[in-house]
Amino acid sequence: MNNESTIDFEDLENLAGETELSPPELFAANLIEWSLERHASDLFVSDVDGCVVVSVRRLGRIEPVRKLARAYGHRLQGHLRVLASADAGESIRPVEGRGNITTPDGSKAHMRLSSIPTLYGQDVAIRLFDPVRGARPLDALGMDDCDVKSIHHLLGQQSGLILVTGPVASGKSSTLYAMIKQLNDGTRKVHTIEDPIEHALSGVMQSQTNVRIGLGFAELLTAVLRHSPDVIMIGEVRDRQTAETAIRAGASGQLVLATVHSKSAAEAVDMMLQYESDHKFLSSSLIGVINQRLVRRLCPACRTNDESTASDAIEVPDRIRGRMHGADPTLYRSVGCDLCHEGGYDSLVNLPEIMLVNSAIGEAIAHRASAIELESAAAQAGMLRLAEVAHSYVLRGITSIDEINRVINDSDLASMQRRESTA
Ligand SMILES: [Zn+2]
Repeated sequence: MNNESTIDFEDLENLAGETELSPPELFAANLIEWSLERHASDLFVSDVDGCVVVSVRRLGRIEPVRKLARAYGHRLQGHLRVLASADAGESIRPVEGRGNITTPDGSKAHMRLSSIPTLYGQDVAIRLFDPVRGARPLDALGMDDCDVKSIHHLLGQQSGLILVTGPVASGKSSTLYAMIKQLNDGTRKVHTIEDPIEHALSGVMQSQTNVRIGLGFAELLTAVLRHSPDVIMIGEVRDRQTAETAIRAGASGQLVLATVHSKSAAEAVDMMLQYESDHKFLSSSLIGVINQRLVRRLCPACRTNDESTASDAIEVPDRIRGRMHGADPTLYRSVGCDLCHEGGYDSLVNLPEIMLVNSAIGEAIAHRASAIELESAAAQAGMLRLAEVAHSYVLRGITSIDEINRVINDSDLASMQRRESTA
């Protein structure tokens, strides 16, 4: 019997449509354990034409895991829904659920399940929350020490608005949770407004929006402000009322952390102003913007020095010299080994661009400077742009040029890749 995780989840070809021998309950437990071991963030069990496909999202990418016979796949879907306390029978309507699971090796995780009807049946998506990795402290997110220090500086302020920005799946909520963890030291009243709550934080007042009853970010924020908060975290600013209330709270004594969608730190300011917020109000409230991406870290065990480019032939731009910490600039590429499950990359690291609002930048915001003007003012004040931080990651072998070019659109870095490939 299959008491241990003896299932070869990666043997896709041989197992196409096979009827499994192990009961779906055991298969599900092993599958979740396997996914957690590989730090997968999501698990999918999806009906496709003729069978059910199991896949995971790992290091930001989808990887197929296994094909199952339809009947068996449906039993697995049903069991996963039971684990998440969702209606196991309903497949013609979207359902949601959440639950805690203990895997065969004894590790615990939290799961959030969503199922939607599709052409061939249903798509069951499970977000896996590893409690150990979930709410990591700021210095465990893979940022440089000086960036962690900049964030500490922001969190040391009594009041003000801190924006965290970046595209979907850029690790914004991990950064927010890490910041809240740091602030939650028992001396402050901390509130969060989330959609949905991803991790329970002991001692923090966490509230979740509920669209069905008209309880959005703006309504909850207004209510939370009556509870005398010192710190408020707002999952996302996506309407004028939330933007205005957040700015006002930041300007009147609270420390407010919030996410917005934008491509750069400077554009986050534009984004807030698009909600017709007052320029002067924003300039007196905003203390910093963290714009970020997640990049895959090269596995340190197997990455290989790209010998076609000698160290002394690599130019280090003056602006990032301080980030090299004396290391020789070296280009590495991915290889793959047992430790990184042959992928060549072993984890996701945070790549931040941090704009600290000084008086000059505050002035510029109050005078309606454009995003381009703001960015150059910030760069002059010492901010490293996203592409510059990325460049320093490449020259230190934290990641590869290929990976950076996948995540960031920058012509200088793209030309570096061309030089490398023609070398
Ligand atoms: Zn490796």
